[in-house]
Amino acid sequence: MKRRTAEPFKIKSVETLAMLSYEERKQSLQQAGYNTFLIDSKDVYIDLLTDSGTTAMSDAQWGALMTGDEAYAGSKSWKKLEKAVRDVYGYQFVLPTHQGRGAENILSQLKIQKGDYVPGNMYFTTTRAHQEMNGATFVDIIIDEAHDPTIEHPFKGNVDLAKLQRLIDKVGAEKIPYVCLAVTVNLAGGQPVSMENMKEVYELCQKHDIDVMLDATRCVENAFFIKEREAGQANRSIAAILKEMMSYSDGCTMSGKKDCLVNIGGFLAMNDEDLYIRSRELVVVYEGMPSYGGMAGRDMEAMAIGIREAVDDHYIAHRIGQVRHLGQQLIDAGIPVVKPIGGHAVFLDARAFLPHLSQEEFPAQALAAALYLDSGVRSMERGIVSAGRDITTGNHNKPNLELVRLTIPRRVYTNNHMDVVVDSIVDLYEKRDAICGLKMDYEPPTLRFFNARFSPLSANGELISEENRLL
Ligand SMILES: *Cc1c(COP(=O)(O)O)cnc(C)c1O
Repeated sequence: MKRRTAEPFKIKSVETLAMLSYEERKQSLQQAGYNTFLIDSKDVYIDLLTDSGTTAMSDAQWGALMTGDEAYAGSKSWKKLEKAVRDVYGYQFVLPTHQGRGAENILSQLKIQKGDYVPGNMYFTTTRAHQEMNGATFVDIIIDEAHDPTIEHPFKGNVDLAKLQRLIDKVGAEKIPYVCLAVTVNLAGGQPVSMENMKEVYELCQKHDIDVMLDATRCVENAFFIKEREAGQANRSIAAILKEMMSYSDGCTMSGKKDCLVNIGGFLAMNDEDLYIRSRELVVVYEGMPSYGGMAGRDMEAMAIGIREAVDDHYIAHRIGQVRHLGQQLIDAGIPVVKPIGGHAVFLDARAFLPHLSQEEFPAQALAAALYLDSGVRSMERGIVSAGRDITTGNHNKPNLELVRLTIPRRVYTNNHMDVVVDSIVDLYEKRDAICGLKMDYEPPTLRFFNARFSPLSANGELISEENRLL
């Protein structure tokens, strides 16, 4: 018999969840214009909107909040955070920022000249925005497999070295200030990069005197996939793997809201002293003193502990295991999802789920709305609504992928919660023909997915026809 595993923690404090009736959820969904971003959190049962800043802190972290040193300069709490980053990630120089994008801003301003190119294994919205605002062109150098949701590849976040070499040959190494390497790749569905690939990228870059800067946001999750999937890594600790990963880079930007197990915070780290000194100047301008950088002393205490807790082998095995617990049950039930299951989220393929809807009927938006209506589970659209419009033609950008993202917060929900999500999705799949498309009633000019409003396209205005109502 296969032995089951459970959460490697017990619960000391509980937060009561809203258990709305079908009618109440329907009302809440209508008020939110069928956009899950606009639903009040008090009306959500299981919130899978994002894993960013939604982590549950440990008793050690809560306890440490009280010891935070709120001195304006030279805070003891900063010393602890700096030491944790040095010990666990191995970089020499560290600067605190209010969150990941604060670090991205400073790095981009200091490294990028107008007309430069910044290659990356796909992009993250804020990372790319900072690169472009400083005059750089982003170039995607991820392997082709990453763009196909049906292909199983153990390291779908890998860099295609030939693509990187071609860019170097074309524009010249002096036009490439750094390679931005994300571990794992959020946009590809939380897909990892192999140790071998990280090493090869670093060696190629060193040959051409190009820096490698990691987007280290989910680096611990990446380390777990290396341990599990890469030859010779199985018996090493996550901490050892992580430190070796970081050694194939010159620095990183970090969002503490993910793999540092806190609700707010971030940092910029590097080994180049000159870059550190220049970065420190900008931290003062944009973030705060270099001994707090936009965080309270108590936040730094919590993050220093979170950084160490995250590399606990049991914690990270459970974290990835929980995402898989959700994803594998959906696969077993024949639900179309992006494969393989990544580190932080499961993505439903809404085109395959609702084949009777055209892309202009917003299938992923409709599916996310239907899931909330059915069970109070909040997910996020990642499809045509998120892709926005082409600035020149004014037409919808039509992405290949029309996805609903189920993102799992760290240490917040039990596997029973995941089972509730599975049951709701399986029921919806059985009645998928009864789910209608949406029309957009209000469209904001930028980042429309946050505030857009919709209504059902059915004759009677119901998203799921009443006779097929599930609960
Ligand atoms: C969240 C995130 C960021 C930005 O971090 P913030 O703390 O939200 O500013 C950068 N890159 C990736 C991959 C992220 O997921």
